[in-house]
Amino acid sequence: MSVEIGLFAGTENGNSQDTPDPVDGKQPELVFGSAEEFLFEQLLPTYVRDVDGRSAKWCIEWFFHPEAVARVEALWRSWEHLRLDGATGASVWWRDHADHHMRVLLDPHGPFYNCDMKTHRDPDRLDPRRAPTGWFPDARDTASTPTAVR
Ligand SMILES: [Zn+2]
Repeated sequence: MSVEIGLFAGTENGNSQDTPDPVDGKQPELVFGSAEEFLFEQLLPTYVRDVDGRSAKWCIEWFFHPEAVARVEALWRSWEHLRLDGATGASVWWRDHADHHMRVLLDPHGPFYNCDMKTHRDPDRLDPRRAPTGWFPDARDTASTPTAVR
């Protein structure tokens, strides 16, 4: 696959052929096949910061952090969706998705707080107690109960 950094609809390499066809309902093809491919081919080459371990942190084994995997997946999926908007898609993706999630991921107190670019260390897990029975009723039970209000 060729690296097509910044590929949004209406740009030189992205065009309206990727927009959903209202007649046959086909979904547009993905540019990247996975969150990991997106991370290495699109996100990291464009979102460059000084990851010095003090003002910004990243884990060399980022894939052991469920939050990081979920956020990178969200960044990939939102990028694939917003690239189809050639007008404001790129700006919205950077402002609402990349800037937000990367700020959280790179935060020295974020998910990689215990790691660095040489060593992964499992984070300390919260171990809260469960509330007494009945304090948090199952919302699915009440949602299926018919209401008499009309
Ligand atoms: Zn780690």
